[in-house]
Amino acid sequence: MTTKLFRDARIHTPVSDKSRCVSWERGALLVKDGLIESVGREDDVLQGLHPSQIDQEIDLGGRCVVPGFVDPHTHMCFSELREREFALRLSGVSYLEILRSGGGILSSVRSVRSASEETILARTLKNVHIALSLGTTTVEIKSGYGLDTASEIRMLRLIERLGRKTPVTVVPTFMGAHAVPSEFSDDPEGYVDLLVKEMIPAVSAECNPPFCDVFCEEGVFSVSQARRVLEAAREHGMKLKVHADEVTDTGGAALAAEMGAVSAEHLLAAREENLAKMVSAGVIAVLLPATAYSLRKPYADARKMLDLGLTVALATDCNPGSSFTQSVPFVFGLAVMKMGMTVDEALSGCTLNAARAIGVDKICGSLEKNKLADLIVLDGDTPAIMAYNCGVAPVLSVYKRGECVAKRPDDRGIN
Ligand SMILES: [Zn+2]
Repeated sequence: MTTKLFRDARIHTPVSDKSRCVSWERGALLVKDGLIESVGREDDVLQGLHPSQIDQEIDLGGRCVVPGFVDPHTHMCFSELREREFALRLSGVSYLEILRSGGGILSSVRSVRSASEETILARTLKNVHIALSLGTTTVEIKSGYGLDTASEIRMLRLIERLGRKTPVTVVPTFMGAHAVPSEFSDDPEGYVDLLVKEMIPAVSAECNPPFCDVFCEEGVFSVSQARRVLEAAREHGMKLKVHADEVTDTGGAALAAEMGAVSAEHLLAAREENLAKMVSAGVIAVLLPATAYSLRKPYADARKMLDLGLTVALATDCNPGSSFTQSVPFVFGLAVMKMGMTVDEALSGCTLNAARAIGVDKICGSLEKNKLADLIVLDGDTPAIMAYNCGVAPVLSVYKRGECVAKRPDDRGIN
C-alpha cells in the first residue's frame, strides 16, 4: 500500500452529481494505491491523518490541478502523415473532392494495409505519448483504416497492444464503416453487406470492442446504410457512436437518437429538431473544434446545444487528414474562445463528459473518492490558463494512478 498526499493545490473538477465544477483554493488529494481516498479542502483532508500514514507528500505550490483529460474521439492509429494533402487543401481543394479522388481516408487505408505492425505501432505510440505529455490519461482510438476483415482485426489488436505499452488507458472502437474502400467503389451496398454479415461478427468474436462507430455523411454512408451497420453492431453487443452531420445535414443526429447511441460526433450541420431528439434519447454530443479549425469550417454551435440541454464532450479527432493534433488543451482553448463555452463547460467536456461518452465515467473523468488518481498540474491558478497561455500547453506534470508519467522540462518545483 502506497499513500500519497498532494497538498497546496488549487483543485478544480467536475463532480458526478452536479452539472458544474467545484474548486478548492487550498485543496489536497489523498491517494492510496492509485485511487483517490479523499479530496477537498486541505484542512479537511488532513483531519485525523497522522504523518506516519503518508509515504510521499507532494507540495504543488498553489498550482491548479484538474482531472486527467479523456479524449473520447480519435483516429490516432495510422502509419503515415498527410501533410502534402493538407497543403493542397490550403490551396483551395475541398475535403470531399480529395475523398472522391482517392485521397483522404483512402490514402490512409492504403498505407495502413501495406505497413508493418511495427511501423503502425511506432507512429501510434508517438501520438499517444504526445497526448500524454499534454495531459491525456485516457484515450479512445478507432479502427477504420483497414476496411477489410483481416485489416480491421489487425488494427483493433494493435490498439489493444498499445494499451499495454503506455500508462494511458486506451478504449478501442470498431469503425469499419469509416469509408467505402476503393474495391467497393461501384458497389457500396456490397460493402455494407460485408460489414453486416462478415466483418462485425468476426470483429466481435476476435476483439470484442466496446463501441462501433459509423461515418454517416453524404458520399460516405447514407442514413439507411448506417442504420444497418449500427443494428448489426448492437446485435453483437457493441455500444453505438455516429459521425453525424459533419458536412451536410443528412439526419445523422436523428439516427443516433433513434438507435440509442451513446454519442453523436461533429454535428456542425445538424438541425435543431434532431438535436432535440438527441436530448430526449440521452445521446452525448462529442464536438471536435480542432477539425473545424483544420478544415476552415464554422465551429459547431456548442452554446445552442448546451442551452437545448445536451451533454457536450470535446475531443481532438486526432487523425492524419482533417485534424492532426493530439492536444486537448488546444481543443479546450477553441471551445472557450470560438464556441461560446464557459471554462467549466469546456473542462467538463474534456474530462467527465468525455468519460461518459466512452463509458469510463465510473473510474475517471473527475477528482472524486474511489476514482483513479489521474490528474494534471497546470502552470497557472485556474483551468482558464489553457486558453490564456494559448499555443503553449501549460501542463506541468501528469499523474496516472497517482504516478508522475510526464513532466515539462521547466517543472523543477514539484517532485
Ligand atoms: Zn472522427
